[in-house]
Amino acid sequence: MKAKVNVKVSIKNVSKAFSKLQVIDNISFDVVEGQFVCIVGPSGCGKTTFLKMVAGLEAPSSGLILVDGFPPNPKNRNIGFVFQEESLLPWRNIYENIRFGLELRSNKDRKSDSIIEEMIKLVGLNGFENYYPNQISGGMNKRVAIARALAVEPSILLMDEPFGDLDAQTRWIIHKELKSIHEKLKKTIIFVTHNVEEAVYLGDLVLVFSKRPIKIREVIPIELPDPRDKLSEQFIKYRERVIGLLREDLVLI
Ligand code: ADP
Ligand code: MG
Repeated sequence: MKAKVNVKVSIKNVSKAFSKLQVIDNISFDVVEGQFVCIVGPSGCGKTTFLKMVAGLEAPSSGLILVDGFPPNPKNRNIGFVFQEESLLPWRNIYENIRFGLELRSNKDRKSDSIIEEMIKLVGLNGFENYYPNQISGGMNKRVAIARALAVEPSILLMDEPFGDLDAQTRWIIHKELKSIHEKLKKTIIFVTHNVEEAVYLGDLVLVFSKRPIKIREVIPIELPDPRDKLSEQFIKYRERVIGLLREDLVLI
């Protein structure tokens, strides 16, 4: 008997244009509960626009997006978002930064203190609660952003090239940490990147987007045992397959 799968995010015939600029051209796919889906695509193809639509921050021009069966509404705050840009508030310490999302939700009860403490532990920032963002490393800043997004116990987590500005070693470490967070929480994650190694390391599935207007070039299930070895032959094969697809779309824009 087949186990029942829960569709968490459903993308149905979605297109998006900004006046005459067609960005997304009729894409459809489902994300199953607990899945870690990585999306790679050429720069400027519309990946951020796509994530914003899943978060309900942009509307599709046509088609339908459902999260937990309903069109996404940012007011419900059931969607966590870790952005590309620096997003911590420099005048708040780590603890207060993580609390920020909960405050927006006007959820300042006792329970929220224990969630914040749990999140601090989860991302390994115990002892740094009173530090300010400029007093901790870039990698730690990212961990705070992840903890803040998870503190509201979102239904899904969206991540938009969150580690693009980190050096290679720090990225390597945070990949491992994010993987173990996903193993623990089994949160549904949609993670956008242009870094193929990152996508193959993190994803249960890698979706390759085409150049603009976006179509789905291929959906690649990554069938590698955990922990994944970025230097193994099979890993490199997956990487080459994705790079090959992206290369076909390589244009200077
Ligand atoms: P990516 O994240 O893949 O680099 P984006 O989603 O940021 O791509 O952008 C895709 C295209 O849509 C770009 O050409 C960008 O200039 C355009 N675009 C994004 N947001 C807007 C907007 N609000 N109005 C007009 N054009 C936009
Ligand atoms: Mg982007």
